[in-house]
Amino acid sequence: MPDFTTFSSLLRITAKYEMPAIRSQILEVIRDAYPETFEGLGSSKPLGEGIFSGRAPHPNEVLNLFVQQNLTSALPMAYYMATRRGLNSLMDRRLPRNATLPLEILQSAMGGLMRLRELELNETHDLIFEQNGSHPCSASNCSSRAPTGPAALAAYHQVFDRMVGSSQLGTKVLQVPEFYEDLDGELRCIGPGICTGCVERWESKHAELRKKAWVALPDVFGLNG
Ligand SMILES: [Zn+2]
Repeated sequence: MPDFTTFSSLLRITAKYEMPAIRSQILEVIRDAYPETFEGLGSSKPLGEGIFSGRAPHPNEVLNLFVQQNLTSALPMAYYMATRRGLNSLMDRRLPRNATLPLEILQSAMGGLMRLRELELNETHDLIFEQNGSHPCSASNCSSRAPTGPAALAAYHQVFDRMVGSSQLGTKVLQVPEFYEDLDGELRCIGPGICTGCVERWESKHAELRKKAWVALPDVFGLNG
């Protein structure tokens, strides 16, 4: 993959002089890094601005380019990549002109960020605090055995803070969360005393949340016409 400057020139040139063969190769690369479907979001492959060689461009710069070039199918992901870093990143005044978002794009990005953030907070809260409902965990050593007891609530708070707290004013809703931490070579849930069965339920529910957030991207960023 070339660096971003070369890449954006290529994209403009292939549009201007109608070079469909080369352009389709470039679009192929974009489809890979800014997938159109949820299935394209493989966890191991590089996504977004990380695909470019050399200096990674600011995600605002990529978003501007994709809007200018009318790369509709890559826009939901490009918007997400720019908004996940939060408002300060979206509105950073020290950025060069090509990474400064025009008002209309900025408004769509900010509106989308607020809606994604709300979805992330609400759904993460529900998935952790209301997971057991009337069926508490049956594992004898699990804090969730008494889901409204002090040990369970303390653990839930810790997990919740870890999942949404450090995203500050941005969002991590499409990211696979880490429920375990390494304590002296032993993997333990970040919520003390929570069993692996409960963590597995959280993991599968969070996978549903990621999918729900993904499907909502075009709508939250106002890309549906
Ligand atoms: Zn449990």
